[in-house]
Amino acid sequence: MYTAMKTHGLLFAAGGLSEHDVDKGLSLAKRVHPKYRPVFEKLSETDRAAVALYFLPHGSKKDVLEVTRPRVVKWYCPFADQREFPSGHRYSINVYTGCNHQCRYCYVNGYSARQPGCKSRFRQDLCKDLEALEALGVPPAPVHLSNSTDALQPLEQEHRHTLFTLQKLAEHRNRFTTVALLTKNPAALTDDRYIEVLHQLNELPADHPRRHWFVENGFSPLRLEVSLAFFDDQHRRLLDPMAPSVENRMEAIRFLRKQGLPVFLRIDPLFPHDPLGGSKTMADFGLPDIQSTSDLESLVRFGREVGVRGVVYSVAKITRPQQGGLSPVMDEMKRIYQRISGDQPLMSRGGSWRLPANVANEQIVGPFLELCERQSLVAKACKTNLITTP
Ligand code: SF4
Repeated sequence: MYTAMKTHGLLFAAGGLSEHDVDKGLSLAKRVHPKYRPVFEKLSETDRAAVALYFLPHGSKKDVLEVTRPRVVKWYCPFADQREFPSGHRYSINVYTGCNHQCRYCYVNGYSARQPGCKSRFRQDLCKDLEALEALGVPPAPVHLSNSTDALQPLEQEHRHTLFTLQKLAEHRNRFTTVALLTKNPAALTDDRYIEVLHQLNELPADHPRRHWFVENGFSPLRLEVSLAFFDDQHRRLLDPMAPSVENRMEAIRFLRKQGLPVFLRIDPLFPHDPLGGSKTMADFGLPDIQSTSDLESLVRFGREVGVRGVVYSVAKITRPQQGGLSPVMDEMKRIYQRISGDQPLMSRGGSWRLPANVANEQIVGPFLELCERQSLVAKACKTNLITTP
């Protein structure tokens, strides 16, 4: 049966593009900004046209086009040069705006000062984007919930937009490869309605175009990435004061694992804990040892015992919030960064400071990786994890 669908103001035959659509998509793709071009060049003509029609503005008179069209199922990180994201297009859905957890190290505070809230028309817009993906026949890609907000923050209990999103993704499963959900509140997932849809998402349908490839390579089509960077709850309270407690998150992870769901432990971010090789302690900077070696060992051991699929880490950035100055704890942390960097200046980028790579590797990443290796857990840096998520 022939059905037609109106999307982005154009009429498409459902389930495929006409020759005219393909020509239109290819002509849009020719004008795409060079930073996105590597993604488009890798695709077949039909797929390139579909991706262009979904992401690029159809009526723009500009010579160079940015990826701006969709409403909520958006291009993952439109700021990044895609040569650094070699695995093709990927989606991001930020279910809510702002975040209640108030993590002192939150990088989102550096570019958005929004209060936690719902997006107006979120559900309608989500459905429209999903219909557009179907109508255009956009090839499947990974989808990440939520990078700039926690999709399971307290708003979820009242509004259930994340549950709705997961259910819609399950209905349109063939448009997505991995569904990745990052949260500090895994306890929200222990409700039967979430468990049911998570099991659905964790199984690619028999007619999914990438199913065999996923099965052959042992990739999980669902990733529940639970962020747990501290073992001592007092230290957790200092750094992510409004997020659920350590024990609450551990309990939820145990539950999700017992349900056979794939959990990845994000010990993220990592902080220094031995500022000057023993000659100074964290206490000299007015801070407790928030991530001691034994705390990290306990977290990694916990991950191995409950059977997480892997560990994800990144070294903490000191981000200057858009409103107000650094919190006292991050102000002290910046002083520690300056001390352990010695003669090298901190790397300053986009309103945040980072340790020079050699210092971060030597003092934080190297010892952490050894620790994960001792527990036979695969650990990936945050960006590597992202671009290797198929
Ligand atoms: S949970 Fe994530 S988005 Fe929310 S405040 Fe913490 S770091 Fe920021």
